[in-house]
Amino acid sequence: MAEETIFSKIIRREIPADVIYQDELVTAFRDIAPQAPSHILIVPNTLIPTVNDVKPEHEMALGRMMTVAAKIAEQEGLAEEGYRLIVNCNRHAGQEVYHLHMHLLGGQALGPMLT
Ligand code: 5GP
Repeated sequence: MAEETIFSKIIRREIPADVIYQDELVTAFRDIAPQAPSHILIVPNTLIPTVNDVKPEHEMALGRMMTVAAKIAEQEGLAEEGYRLIVNCNRHAGQEVYHLHMHLLGGQALGPMLT
């Protein structure tokens, strides 16, 4: 059984976060240390530590993460100029929180790599 992270507490609304979207499969909230004018994390409500742990039964939530990313990008006014979606996996990618999450970054021209 994987160990819960702070993201599970955010999903259950046990600790404060700027949650901008939540449904039965995913939650989206603003990153506490934004790397761009818009920096939002989109996470599955169920704990999947890394991409290595993804199973076929997670496909609904992972697909929902993409449709929610597109919806939030539109709401944030990022759709036309563009934005970046990033999922870090394990140490070489710099993953810090072991609850799979997608970074949505935008609002400025992004360098070759961010986060
Ligand atoms: P990673 O490096 O694992 O891909 O990204 C983890 C992200 O989670 C970082 O951008 C970090 O700023 C963000 N983060 C870590 N702890 C918290 C928290 O308690 N609240 C929020 N909103 N973001 C967090």
